[in-house]
Amino acid sequence: MLQHDVIIVGGGLAGCQAALEIKRKNPYIDVGLVAKTHPIRSHSVAAQGGIAASLNNVDPEDSWEAHAFDTVKGSDYLADQDAVEILTKEAPNVIIELEHLGVLFSRLEDGRIAQRAFGGHSHNRACYASDKTGHAILHELVNNLRKNGVKIYDEWYVMELILENNEAKGVVMYNIRDLTLEIVQAKTVMFATGGYGRVFNTTSNDYASTGDGLAMCALAGLPLEDMEFVQFHPTGLYPVGVLISEAVRGEGAYLRNSEGERFMERYAPKQMELAPRDITSRAITLEIRAGRGINLDGTAGGIFVHLDLRHMGKEKIMSRVPFCWEEAHRLLGIDAVNDPMPVRPTAHYSMGGIPVTTKGQVRKSATEVVEGFFAAGECACVSVHGANRLGSNSLLECVVYGKVTGGAIADYVLGRQFPVFNPQDYLNKAEKRINNLLKKEGNLRINEVRQGFQDCMTDHCGVFRVEKVMKEGLERLQELKQQAQQIYVDDKDTCFNTELIEALELQSLMMVGELILTSALNRQESRGAHSREDYPDRNDQTFLNHSLAYYNENGIKIQYMPVVINRFEPKERKY
Ligand SMILES: Cc1cc2nc3c(=O)[nH]c(=O)nc-3n(C[C@H](O)[C@H](O)[C@H](O)COP(=O)(O)OP(=O)(O)OC[C@H]3O[C@@H](n4cnc5c(N)ncnc54)[C@H](O)[C@@H]3O)c2cc1C
Repeated sequence: MLQHDVIIVGGGLAGCQAALEIKRKNPYIDVGLVAKTHPIRSHSVAAQGGIAASLNNVDPEDSWEAHAFDTVKGSDYLADQDAVEILTKEAPNVIIELEHLGVLFSRLEDGRIAQRAFGGHSHNRACYASDKTGHAILHELVNNLRKNGVKIYDEWYVMELILENNEAKGVVMYNIRDLTLEIVQAKTVMFATGGYGRVFNTTSNDYASTGDGLAMCALAGLPLEDMEFVQFHPTGLYPVGVLISEAVRGEGAYLRNSEGERFMERYAPKQMELAPRDITSRAITLEIRAGRGINLDGTAGGIFVHLDLRHMGKEKIMSRVPFCWEEAHRLLGIDAVNDPMPVRPTAHYSMGGIPVTTKGQVRKSATEVVEGFFAAGECACVSVHGANRLGSNSLLECVVYGKVTGGAIADYVLGRQFPVFNPQDYLNKAEKRINNLLKKEGNLRINEVRQGFQDCMTDHCGVFRVEKVMKEGLERLQELKQQAQQIYVDDKDTCFNTELIEALELQSLMMVGELILTSALNRQESRGAHSREDYPDRNDQTFLNHSLAYYNENGIKIQYMPVVINRFEPKERKY
């Protein structure tokens, strides 16, 4: 059995930032960090457009209060305002710390960090490194993990959270290289396992974004918060779904329908293309439904719209958003200097997740916490994004709450002993689970079932939702769960068996999907990214609450938890 004072699962921005903060506060704390990818390949590395902070470099009028208001309004008033205050007040400090760590931010002429516009933000406050912001930050963090003596387990897959009597005691994991199983005993466990975009058939997320951390919590009997709120980013490159960053619109690109019209005028006359993502994604979907989408041959009635950069000119495109130009060129052969890009909404971000306090400690219910268990980043719900996240606030959340959580763990762990449990029980269980999958004699390929499941989620719980369709989706999901029993794993090898990983990930995806659908069915209102055609209005009286979904073999139970409102009273949301 391995032992660490703290074991962190996840090597993206949130996990790395927490590990560094623990070491900064107390270098004697023994920290292990596990990732099923190499940490540098965590989805954070793909973040493009920016990280928000009221640095006032470009816009002297900006303030943390303005940033907080934009975030709360963007969230459709579901964000917890105490958590938003910490996020926005800390933002300028963490940017300066990242800069001191060596992150190469893009600059203004006078050498200060540049800042650009982003959807839903009232001021230019997104700091960026061209359109490779996540790459720039993650590389510095990972380099510093090594310097600070964090033990890294890269390409290890965590299968189970060891949770007994409301106390986290460690994790069960295996080495992807040779399938060796290990138990890690830890005084504190932290999850930073990222999002679950792969629940849907079209997503900007990487292949590893399968919601494993969420599924492990759900299986351990812990609740998941606000799972109905899934962000569909307006500009996924059609047909692949790869992201074209909001920075492209931040730098001035237009959205046009088949008539060449800048249709955002109808939906958000003031903010136009820089309206928040939920509003813009719905606008695109409505244009397509109205027959004003575009076909590949340029005729009307198709299923995408155009993102037009042509008026921006080559120099601006190549200096500010070169990666987006490259993506369209590499994947579709489109030169955005001369031609518009085909785009449509793509599943992008999970607002919900593992409920945590503002110190990052995991909640067992609205009023109780779990001992020895923390979480941060996209897998967690603290909740700073409420029903809809503003672009550039997620990297910020990872860095701020990675730091806050790391700091809290550094204090917390000092008062704890190594927990007692029987590792053999967990080893036996894990071995059995793996052997069962390897020996399965079904007749379905994993990808057949996964595709069916992803199509089901996209068709039944996408940008717009309605009771009848979601109920059908839940029924279809039961059939798919039966089918998942019929899969077989061709590859029986112990060395880099990626098919086995896919089999385990399929289990995570399906559990997370069921939680999303059930939470969405229960929220009978429209708020932020959750848009019910049968309940088109926001209903503060009943639903100005966070949902907590508890998974159980026999069904999912939903409870609600109050929102923290201490600064901005809910108002109608207009842009
Ligand atoms: C294409 C794209 C562009 C984006 N651009 C921006 C942007 O410009 N600005 C912004 O603010 N946000 C952006 N976002 C969102 C933001 O990048 C993410 O929300 C954030 O990086 C998530 O970081 P994280 O640390 O929570 O998780 P991730 O970076 O996703 O890392 C998750 C980690 O958990 C590990 N893991 C997961 N499951 C297991 C398991 N079972 N066992 C072991 N390890 C496991 C993975 O290996 C990985 O190391 C973007 C997202 C995408 C997809």
